[in-house]
Amino acid sequence: MNIEREHTDNTSTHTQPETPLHYVVEKAVPEKELHFSLRTFYLLGTRVDNIDGITVRKVVRHFVEENSGRTKKIFFTNVHSICVAQRDHVLKHCLNLGDMVLADGSGLKIGGRVMGHPITENLNGTDLTPEILKIAEELGWSVYLLGAKPPVVERCCMLLLQKLPRLRIVGFHPGYFNQEDESRVVEEINHAHPDILLVALGTPLQEIFVSRHAYELNAKVCMAVGGLFDFLSLNRKRAPLLFRKTGLEWLYRFLQEPKAKWERVVIEIPLFLSFIFAKRFFPRRLQQLVKERVFS
Ligand code: UDP
Repeated sequence: MNIEREHTDNTSTHTQPETPLHYVVEKAVPEKELHFSLRTFYLLGTRVDNIDGITVRKVVRHFVEENSGRTKKIFFTNVHSICVAQRDHVLKHCLNLGDMVLADGSGLKIGGRVMGHPITENLNGTDLTPEILKIAEELGWSVYLLGAKPPVVERCCMLLLQKLPRLRIVGFHPGYFNQEDESRVVEEINHAHPDILLVALGTPLQEIFVSRHAYELNAKVCMAVGGLFDFLSLNRKRAPLLFRKTGLEWLYRFLQEPKAKWERVVIEIPLFLSFIFAKRFFPRRLQQLVKERVFS
């Protein structure tokens, strides 16, 4: 399989990606040989891989089957993570060095369009991960769940097994532990030897955990999935279809948990949009002004 990355840099401040632009898997089985083009661009310095869901599923399958010995990191980027990444450069670095960084949410759709990179598909972890778990059940991949409160992750496993009875859940661990306990958690995960590790610790903890331990984890794919276990365990209600279809899921989540999410709506969304519009239009306007002053 051959994944090509076409990089477009809109900003001067992004972390240089160390992942190769041309990612060639030497041992590709000819009939399974695939060619993917990841149109990568940067929004306020944070990487976005513009890709559709069908291709993502193929790439994940390839990541699991190629058995490269290196844990592949899949992240989702949204307005919240881009805003946090503006002040937390460790998060920005982690996101930019992921193996796939998928566009999540209507804010990114607007951002992409304004910057001249229309987003192919909104790929949030809550919709995409269950699809991947269906493939995992079909193909016998093993899965480990890390994150959320103890009853939440337990119930999540139980309900997943009701829906996908042949899914091989090889372990789970709640997401509340100290940094000193991290190596014990990593050991437990490695003992279970999962193909897919779902990490639901919220941003930026999950991206940092995955990036910090990827080199020593024996999972083939690690996905940072945010509040997924809360939804799968029915601890948190998913936004009705109308909200999702109209790109207003963020509003529903805000109404559900105003105390926890107000900052995202009141500060992050307006800031993100103003930065994006300023980035796109301000330099041109400035050029225009200079031109007018100089040439009039
Ligand atoms: N969480 C966790 N450990 C922590 C902090 C949070 O396991 O130290 C869990 C939390 O219980 C929730 C998830 O991480 O299940 C974060 O959910 P949120 O909706 O905030 O995720 P995001 O919006 O960042 O995707």
